[in-house]
Amino acid sequence: MGDYDVGKSNLLSRISLNEFNIESKTTIGVEFATKKIQIEGRTIKAQIWDTAGQERFRCIPTAYYKTSAGAFLVYDITNRRSFENLKLWLKELSQYTDDQVAILLVGYKSDLRHLRAVPTDEAKVFADKNNLPFIETSALDSTNVEIAFHKIMTNIFKKQI
Ligand code: GDP
Ligand code: MG
Repeated sequence: MGDYDVGKSNLLSRISLNEFNIESKTTIGVEFATKKIQIEGRTIKAQIWDTAGQERFRCIPTAYYKTSAGAFLVYDITNRRSFENLKLWLKELSQYTDDQVAILLVGYKSDLRHLRAVPTDEAKVFADKNNLPFIETSALDSTNVEIAFHKIMTNIFKKQI
């Protein structure tokens, strides 16, 4: 979850298909994907859901929340507004989910260093304040994408056992 255009759909296609789509503006293509991962010696099959544009109105069907074990909370490091809106997304999350949901804060499009509008340190402070693990990634050059996926899956796994 996160604002429109921060790169959520590309994160999903990078995780599931190892593809990046420079043209993607609205969510076309994958809205749902599965991916297997090894966590602590066990194979876990993740079902990953994407929002289909409803995030524009911050109006995600409640079924998304009810059936989720974890969530990527995504902002774009070049888009200050998307960072400031995180608190609204967190409010939504706390309203519809319980503590069992593993959230990973993801600062996205880390390849666009020259356009950065949110310093890493500032995001870290926000993450600490809200008790969230945090990572910066890029679907364009693949930086930290696998690590982010592994991290959220490990946290989900720990919460479920
Ligand atoms: P969504 O609305 O959150 O699903 O965002 P999309 O995945 O559709 O991406 C929105 C725009 O950001 C598209 O033009 C993508 O090409 C671009 N984008 C997505 N991920 C990255 C990234 O890691 N780096 C850069 N530079 N652009 C990205
Ligand atoms: Mg999308």
